[in-house]
Amino acid sequence: MSEYVNKIYEIVIEKDPEQPEFHQAVKEVLESLVPALERHSIFKKEKILERIVEPERVVMFRVPWLDDNDDIQINRGFRVQFNSALGPYKGGLRFHPSVYLGIMKFLGFEQIFKNSLTGLPMGGGKGGSDFDPKGKSNREVMKFCQSFMLELYRYIGPNVDVPAGDIGVGSREIGFLYGQYRKIVNQNDGVLTGKGLEYGGSLIRPEATGYGATYFAEEMLKIKGLNLKGKICTVSGSGNVAQYIVEKVNQFGGKVVSLSDSNGSIYDPEGINGKKYEYLLELKQIRRGRIKEYAEEFNVEYRPNKRPWDIKCDIAFPSATENEIEKADAQNLVDNGVIAVTEGANMPTSLEGTNIFLEAGVAFGPGKAANAGGVATSGLEMSQNAMRLSWPREEVDARLHEIMVNIHNTTYQVSKQYDKPGNYVLGANIAGFLKVANAMIAQGHW
Ligand code: NDP
Repeated sequence: MSEYVNKIYEIVIEKDPEQPEFHQAVKEVLESLVPALERHSIFKKEKILERIVEPERVVMFRVPWLDDNDDIQINRGFRVQFNSALGPYKGGLRFHPSVYLGIMKFLGFEQIFKNSLTGLPMGGGKGGSDFDPKGKSNREVMKFCQSFMLELYRYIGPNVDVPAGDIGVGSREIGFLYGQYRKIVNQNDGVLTGKGLEYGGSLIRPEATGYGATYFAEEMLKIKGLNLKGKICTVSGSGNVAQYIVEKVNQFGGKVVSLSDSNGSIYDPEGINGKKYEYLLELKQIRRGRIKEYAEEFNVEYRPNKRPWDIKCDIAFPSATENEIEKADAQNLVDNGVIAVTEGANMPTSLEGTNIFLEAGVAFGPGKAANAGGVATSGLEMSQNAMRLSWPREEVDARLHEIMVNIHNTTYQVSKQYDKPGNYVLGANIAGFLKVANAMIAQGHW
């Protein structure tokens, strides 16, 4: 069977040799699926793998906009509608200069299995642009978002495709995008999630990915007879996901000692909490400043161009971007006695790094399970919009918590069923895949 899987992988590379991130995401999933394919021969017969690695639809478009000097700027926009067997395409929009089709496809592919794991009826998709919001004025960001939506609106809809935020797309960008969408289609159908509370957003959506990743970590620790209380945690990134991991870890009695951005990391051995946490939120959400300023404000160590993975910790939460834990970083973490690694970001650990964690017996929560709380709460936002009501904070948080516990239990149970107890990579990939594959078979060949 692994020969068959290798053949599919080779075809993927041959078709699009210049998309290494997509190859990496496909490789991880395919390798995990080998034992499931052996148990269920129908998937090979129905050519599910051949179908699932090919997006149902890819849209690429020009995004022209006027900067503050009245110069015309041109960016490229994307929406990859990967798989709709379970429901409308669902997945974020990323605005970052590194965006190209390979990144969009890797994220869209991961999203299929992640959305399946949430138990909610959502297909997988992803989109974005190589536009960089950093250093742009509010007006420029608005102009860009309006032009982006002027094309994207044709391909989305509440029963078709429901985008959300990701790197570089927060509540400001979602507001501009939704305003333009409404203006064009003359409908208040809630097509984006992550909206402001005043116009259809859900309580807890901004916090959901970070809270969810922390709930997942707590569940993994429970299996080992441990919990987060008193644990030293390293977190990378300092954006949406990282910020709410810090808050939730503090609530659980743990201590977060690092954060980072693309220029470097900080090390605060006393923990990022209280007034320091409030400063962080103001720095990142309002002033849009750099993490270096935190180090200057509180007189702690700033480590230019360095990731936090050489800092001794019990739990690591990589929450910035893909491949930020490479082989040597993973080895450092293991040598320093890390107990659990929970991926707040999508694919932050390289395949070599993942294998080091698995071989060392580290509880390793892959992104498609551990960070699924964001999209799950987006699913809850869709439900509230459809019912025209808003649930209180406690209710959304309770549902999020329940979903994360379920995702943990499902992935753990599947890892046991396949004789690899505690291998959440295998558990998440197989559990996510089975539901989508069965739905595809039930709906015929398309
Ligand atoms: P934000 O834009 O809010 O924050 C991203 C953070 O990561 C920033 O601190 C940014 O630093 C840093 N970062 C981004 N790119 C790089 C890079 N190439 N090298 C080093 N640091 C980098 O994004 P989110 O917090 O929303 O997303 C973080 C991760 O979580 C992504 O992988 C995303 O796909 C994933 N995710 C997000 C979800 C959500 O609900 N938002 C849901 C599920 C997963 P700087 O400011 O310098 O760019």
